[in-house]
Amino acid sequence: MLKVSNLCSGYGKTQILNGLDFEVKQGEIVTLIGANGAGKTTTLKTLCGVIPTMAGHVSFDGEDLTNKTPFAIVDAGITMVPEGRQLFPNFTVKDNLIMGSYKRAARPIVQRKMEEVLEIFPRVKERLNQLAGSLSGGEQQMVAIARGMMSDPRLLIFDEPSLGLSPILVQQMFGVIRNVIEHGVTVLLVEQNVFQTLRLADRGYVLENGAIILSGTGQELLSDPHIRKAYLGH
Ligand code: ATP
Repeated sequence: MLKVSNLCSGYGKTQILNGLDFEVKQGEIVTLIGANGAGKTTTLKTLCGVIPTMAGHVSFDGEDLTNKTPFAIVDAGITMVPEGRQLFPNFTVKDNLIMGSYKRAARPIVQRKMEEVLEIFPRVKERLNQLAGSLSGGEQQMVAIARGMMSDPRLLIFDEPSLGLSPILVQQMFGVIRNVIEHGVTVLLVEQNVFQTLRLADRGYVLENGAIILSGTGQELLSDPHIRKAYLGH
């Protein structure tokens, strides 16, 4: 579905990603793991067209998305749920959700899509008319994911969705990601909870200094000595 080859990118003249090769197949949950500064967020920003590709290619269902605009990438079916939620705090939850349906193909079906999305997020449904800024951190994160689903994505990309959430809310959030998959959406996930993420993920790639140094199934990575020592603390 998503195929990334020799991806190089960075900020200004500073190159951060040094030729990444990875893929996400339809229906999978794939995770990128790596220490702070390894280049995970940079990879996601490049995939979404927020920063330019210096070299390499990104293709999605055979369509070349290299250096396409963020709008074209959403139109192609890739949506990112950004780190830190980034809702409009003075708008209602409902208006925040409607803003998620800016993909051209999603606009005519906004009402139907909202009903479908609210079935997955009953807690969000209860808060539809509340200002987004008045919700708890966990609720805001759910709204951010629901907003991502409003664009009718085929691939949903998560950047640190559990950041700042209490352990119970982290569990809920992982449950929501499972729900998203059950609704036919493929997931690419960057998460600091490496243990739980590898248990959930079909496959993972390990990034160090802007390069992939290891890959495998979630199970393989969980039992890999390097991963255990560097990311799981034993
Ligand atoms: P974290 O887990 O801390 O979020 P990460 O793996 O997501 O880490 P990135 O945010 O991709 O790491 O950062 C990779 C490198 O790019 C770091 O060295 C960082 O300092 C640098 N970097 C990130 N954003 C910018 C920017 N806007 N301008 C210049 N350098 C940046």
